Amino acid sequence: MSMFCFQCQETARNNGCTVRGVCGKDESTAKTQDLLVHVLKGISLHARAASAAGAQVPTDVGRFVAECLFSTITNVDFDSAHLSQLVGQALEVRAQLRSLYQGKGPTHDSATWTGAPEDYLAKAAAVGVLSTENEDQRSLRELLVYGLKGISAYADHAAVLGLEDPAIYEFLFEALASTTEDLSVDEMVALVLKAGEIGVTTMALLDRANTETYGNPELSEVQLGVGSRPGILVSGHDLKDLEELL
Ligand code: SF4
Repeated sequence: MSMFCFQCQETARNNGCTVRGVCGKDESTAKTQDLLVHVLKGISLHARAASAAGAQVPTDVGRFVAECLFSTITNVDFDSAHLSQLVGQALEVRAQLRSLYQGKGPTHDSATWTGAPEDYLAKAAAVGVLSTENEDQRSLRELLVYGLKGISAYADHAAVLGLEDPAIYEFLFEALASTTEDLSVDEMVALVLKAGEIGVTTMALLDRANTETYGNPELSEVQLGVGSRPGILVSGHDLKDLEELL
């Protein structure tokens, strides 16, 4: 098995993509994404330790974590060179957080491991989804992480339009950090349910960002039918990107 990913409904045999993603994601990209999520867990552990020590965690850190989680959603960023850059940035962000407080920091591997880009793929092989052996624990941890990815997509879109909520970022830290701990099933389920609540909060934030920027949606006439030249149908949430294309 060269990779393992089961994060979306396209997954091979409804089981997992193990050689190459049905979506086109290759081994290098899958593994670099796994390592990125691992280091984000370490950032979260340090962010929580810094807060507990009375330090102010910059809002930029939460935004960076959201951007990185968003980049690991299916079909968002399959550029392994860019993902590798994000891992390097994540290691720097983690080191900056560590410098904000004194005393013993978290000892989990995600909070302490460091390496050069040539080390990334070897390290990634040891920290992917299957590194959690207990299937129930693995399922609940991954369910939570996939919820965080969705929250992050909404949060990132809202941030692009100028609206951020630090409470959302704090939940990303709490939830990512929780996946490094041996929690009970009830505790893990509670976090998954909280991710649902935070997801609704984040959608409301994005809705406010969109309507404050572009107004309320209204019925509009659009051209239907077939044109004489090839075209691309564009939909989704990237309204600012679309605006900049006009
Ligand atoms: S994101 Fe791609 S590699 Fe992962 S499960 Fe979906 S299709 Fe497979």
